[in-house]
Amino acid sequence: MKVLITDRFDLNAEAHLKSRSKIEISRSQSPIPTGEELKGVTALIIRSRTKITKSFLETAPDLKFIVTSTSGFDHIDFDATKARGIATAYTPNANVQSAVELTWALVLACARRVPESGRAIRNGVWDREALNGVELAGKIYGVIGFGRIGTRVAKLAQAFGMKVLAYDPYIEEEEFTSRGVTRLGCDEVLRLADVVSLHVPATEETSPLMRSTYLSLLQTHAILVNTSRGSVIHERALIEVLQAGKLRAVGLDVFEKEPLDRHSDLTRFNNVVLTPHLGATTTEAFAKSSLEAAEKVLNFFASEPISDSLPPEAEWFVRTHAKQS
Ligand code: NAD
Repeated sequence: MKVLITDRFDLNAEAHLKSRSKIEISRSQSPIPTGEELKGVTALIIRSRTKITKSFLETAPDLKFIVTSTSGFDHIDFDATKARGIATAYTPNANVQSAVELTWALVLACARRVPESGRAIRNGVWDREALNGVELAGKIYGVIGFGRIGTRVAKLAQAFGMKVLAYDPYIEEEEFTSRGVTRLGCDEVLRLADVVSLHVPATEETSPLMRSTYLSLLQTHAILVNTSRGSVIHERALIEVLQAGKLRAVGLDVFEKEPLDRHSDLTRFNNVVLTPHLGATTTEAFAKSSLEAAEKVLNFFASEPISDSLPPEAEWFVRTHAKQS
């Protein structure tokens, strides 16, 4: 039972795997392992830099199982894995809390102008009136995409004393009502909310969801945050809305093209808070995703059921034949 790890992987999780004496573990020199490194390998632990294609699989004749310790899976060609009968899985739950907390870091940074304040102090400016912020309690929070991350973001909004509206055409009414959230159409959520955050996958339907027609529905005092995928917002249209002064602030963790060009127009606005796709970048998310991947490898070797198998059975995936990025 040979396992090859192709990318960053927590040492504790590796030790957990090693504790099973029959498993032989190695790490490849780069995220794209050579045919030599893949010889005899039955299980592969990857992240998004290892692209699983038909030609890649030809270099891995003994492969039976792939687990990606990420929540995205667009680096895996499911037609190719299916044709070879290779089981695949991912770790979508491991980084949920981290992504939720980063969403809120951006919301609060926008509301209280935190990065802008730091820049002012460094420039020798101490002007409290110029940095006036807004409270969130009593305001309306709009969630677009009511899945793992969206539902938890909503719960925190309620803890802040906000009323929550949400849009997700693939979720049962009961999921909204049981959480005390009002279900509305996308345009209504955008029109009514003081804060909107995006938590949808990148699919043909959502790439982009926020084009100029939808962006223009937002209130001029609204805060918009995107920690989902860059393709969900039409960046040029967003820049035009910002240039027209039609939004209070925007928080972005993801971009149409990553890394974001340091000369991008998005870097020119004081009211745009930027982070370099840090949603899942925490010590805890890394440890959890590695451990979950290790558990799935152990389950595979023990012929036990493997949770979070790919491709997902979620209705949005089946219906849209998603191209998650
Ligand atoms: P999820 O699959 O649990 O939830 C996504 C929700 O979006 C689902 O409920 C689905 O029904 C809904 N949806 C699908 N198409 C829709 C549409 N057209 N309109 C409205 N809703 C739609 O996913 P999740 O784990 O909550 O992740 C949400 C997003 O966050 C994904 O894009 C994921 O890749 C991204 N993410 C980013 C980071 C980061 O580092 N910034 C980390 C984790 C996840």
